[in-house]
Amino acid sequence: MPRGKIGRPTELFIDGDWIEGSGKVEVINPATEEVLGLTSEGSAKQAEEAVLAARKAFDEGSWSRLTGCERGELLNRLADLFETHKDEIIEVLISEIGAVRAQAEMLHFNMPLGQLRWWAEQAEQFEYRELMRLADQRGEGRIGTPEVRKEPVGVVSAITPFNFPWSLGIWKLGPALAMGNTMVLKPSPYTPTSSLIHAQLLAEAGLPAGVFNVVTGGADVGETLTTHPGVDMVTFTGSDTIGRQVGAQATGHLKKVVLELGGKSPNIVFEGSKLDPIVSHQIFQFTAQAGQGCSLNTRLLVQRSIHDEMVERVCGALAHFKVGDPNDPTSMMGPLIREVQRQRVERYVREGLEAGAKVAFGGGRPPGLDRGYYVEPTVLTGVKNDMAVAQDEIFGPVLCVIPFDDKEDAIRIANASRYGLAASVWHPDPTEAYSVAARLRAGSIGVNGGGGGSPESPYGGWKDSGIGVENGKYGLHEYVRLKALSYPAGGA
Ligand code: NAD
Repeated sequence: MPRGKIGRPTELFIDGDWIEGSGKVEVINPATEEVLGLTSEGSAKQAEEAVLAARKAFDEGSWSRLTGCERGELLNRLADLFETHKDEIIEVLISEIGAVRAQAEMLHFNMPLGQLRWWAEQAEQFEYRELMRLADQRGEGRIGTPEVRKEPVGVVSAITPFNFPWSLGIWKLGPALAMGNTMVLKPSPYTPTSSLIHAQLLAEAGLPAGVFNVVTGGADVGETLTTHPGVDMVTFTGSDTIGRQVGAQATGHLKKVVLELGGKSPNIVFEGSKLDPIVSHQIFQFTAQAGQGCSLNTRLLVQRSIHDEMVERVCGALAHFKVGDPNDPTSMMGPLIREVQRQRVERYVREGLEAGAKVAFGGGRPPGLDRGYYVEPTVLTGVKNDMAVAQDEIFGPVLCVIPFDDKEDAIRIANASRYGLAASVWHPDPTEAYSVAARLRAGSIGVNGGGGGSPESPYGGWKDSGIGVENGKYGLHEYVRLKALSYPAGGA
């Protein structure tokens, strides 16, 4: 790979080398439907080669035995390289994912950059805290108290979805590498370039060969990565449908598993709340990344007394909402990833209407956009919580508005979902807001406007939204395993 500009890497990255895949896949710009280029597609055999490279790097290489400070330094060098190449990376995110420019910068690029630097710091502090803890342990406790070491898990297979390939790749490589693991990353065939850039810049930052490998491809590659005996842990982000398969594949081979899956998160609004910030929050929460976000609040639960006013305000604000070319800085929402996704969204809206819902805004394709997989932001009223449109993750900009009577009703409807990824609560009385939040069965709750995004926040789904967590110290602990060392009573 040439130095200087990063370009658009297209080959697999295995054991420190760029390798031609066994096939090719067209990478498409969802805003124009144009082919951006061909990227190598790996085979199951190449996935196995990558696993063996990661295994060798873990068992025989230096990475897992470096100090946390050394690993942290490398991750900081990687973060520096991301900053150096920021403009080029943003162009890739806009053209490949269809992210509008402001969101490409904030959500896709800046937020995970901050998290990467946080993990770099954690690599250093983790070791320091462990040393302090072990020092404290000496001579304390009952005779025979073991010394507990935290060690890297080993070889990690990481699989990511199409919607946030840059940040979710970082969510996996940051903590996995900080803790001394080696890994193979498989991105979605729709959006492979982010992970290949990660590989390119990790190599430039000085990561030893074999520690980080990328194999693009589909289910056959994913299956090898989740079942191969050389893999110790699988971390998957994607739909609950594929997540179930991945979980079965991986646990069938007794691997440690983290699954970050879908959601259908509620935004619960009680009467007496100040509506202006809630309207802005709600619009962002179903249109960001064209509604293709796992934790987006796509069910608006609103107290009956303010239902009509809230619908009117949301629809009023949407009248000024611009859908269009993600490169145009005035665009607020870009396209869906592919035609098949657009058809899925349109089918759900159609079926919602057949079931009795009404369109309060949108419902079709934006006028004047003949190329690209665009749909209008769509607000549905008259939705019952048991309709498919309110239960399934549509993964498009469709908001289901559902009225509730009182606190108990709101909590019941919010929890009547197979998902439990996120939620928001707005109540004029902060104590009441807190008490509702405490009873929601979901992993991340915004209370009266609180937003996620802190690297300290653990992020993980309850129920069908997943197993385990990412981010924060708890997320870091997913990438270590415990070892108890016991000494004879008289000391070692
Ligand atoms: P998907 O489940 O279709 O695919 C995810 C990944 O799994 C892709 O890389 C795909 O190639 C791979 N895959 C497919 N079959 C496989 C198999 N048998 N074994 C191993 N890997 C296999 O998801 P998608 O459509 O790319 O992304 C959208 C989904 O991701 C949504 O459900 C969304 O909620 C979810 N998501 C969750 C989070 C989270 O943190 N909870 C974040 C982003 C996206």
